[in-house]
Amino acid sequence: MPRPIHATVHLPALQHNLQRCRQAGGAARVWAVLKANAYGHGIERVYAALRGADGLALLDLSEAERLRALGWRGPILLLEGAFEPRDLELCSRLQLWHVLHRSEQIDWLAAHKTEAPQRVFLKLNSGMNRLGLRPEAFRAAWTRLSHLPQVEEIGLMTHFSDADGLRGGQEGVRHQLDTFVRTTHDLPGERSLCNSAALLRHGLALHLGSGPEAQPLAADWTRPGIALYGSAPDFAQHSAADWGLQPSLTLASQLIAVQDVPAGETVGYGSTYTATHAMRIGIVACGYADGYPRHAPGSNAHGGPVLVRGVRTRLVGRVSMDMLAVDLGPVEAHLGSTCKPGDAVTLWGRSGCGALLPIDEVAQAAGTLGYELMCALAARVPVSVE
Ligand code: PLP
Repeated sequence: MPRPIHATVHLPALQHNLQRCRQAGGAARVWAVLKANAYGHGIERVYAALRGADGLALLDLSEAERLRALGWRGPILLLEGAFEPRDLELCSRLQLWHVLHRSEQIDWLAAHKTEAPQRVFLKLNSGMNRLGLRPEAFRAAWTRLSHLPQVEEIGLMTHFSDADGLRGGQEGVRHQLDTFVRTTHDLPGERSLCNSAALLRHGLALHLGSGPEAQPLAADWTRPGIALYGSAPDFAQHSAADWGLQPSLTLASQLIAVQDVPAGETVGYGSTYTATHAMRIGIVACGYADGYPRHAPGSNAHGGPVLVRGVRTRLVGRVSMDMLAVDLGPVEAHLGSTCKPGDAVTLWGRSGCGALLPIDEVAQAAGTLGYELMCALAARVPVSVE
């Protein structure tokens, strides 16, 4: 029998979350963000559920090729654009939209002679200071592009650094939104601003400019990623369930051993947990080499959440490479029966009996984000789709 760890991608949840993002954006079309191998879910797996999106957005040309090979004929957006001039050849062949975020990319495009028309999004650095042209360079770049015969369409985009609201209500987006409007207000072209946090929190509430004609922040295209995968973009304030999102990924395993630990003995590497009474602990076939966060807490003061047979309990001791330990006390007390090797463990997602452990709770306990846990799922974990 193979090692009992296993992940499941839930296609109906992905479809549901796509619908939820659609609703949140009103009339906006959706670029479903499938970068990082669909946030660790596997592009081929999620494609079946997300091909109802208006467009698919990612980073790697190889991922774009995979999507075309799957039969996707709709728009694809390369979120970081070309990495070198010869990428433009493939952009033409695969008919990609590509982002232009620095002036060299425009130089490459100007030098690229092609029959196929190019469709691009010009990216404004409105304050995040990651990718994009600064406002003072943006309009000249737009004018230059608009004179290139090979450029058929120029979209306008930016990306928010604080849409999750951690820096206060709407403050996080206000400043960048104002910069975007000031820089682009009289330029034609489709607009795309919202990631998941901006979409869910402000998509229809904030507007590009003022007055009855002003377009909602969701604009022409939204770009949700994490919300599609059922994780809340602003977990400090809202759970995924608050936003009506469903988990798209379950990581499950089993107990492979049970230990009776006398009071006073310790558990695991570094002896970070001391049994305060005679305890039964379960050893689970899941460790950091599977993608479980090594920094998940298992001290006496604080233990990360986990489900055993659908009942919530906590980690004890440090997560090791291939295993972690859990307190079986609450589970046995709740179920009135003893646990044994082979019992089901849910690291995150949905248990066989329907109990839910949101990935965001596991991430928060470990001081990280659902994004990181999804992307870190190790290649050695077998994945199925349902
Ligand atoms: N748009 C851009 C430019 C991004 O870089 C990302 C992800 O970082 C997204 C959209 C999707 O963001 P999220 O997963 O927070 O919805």
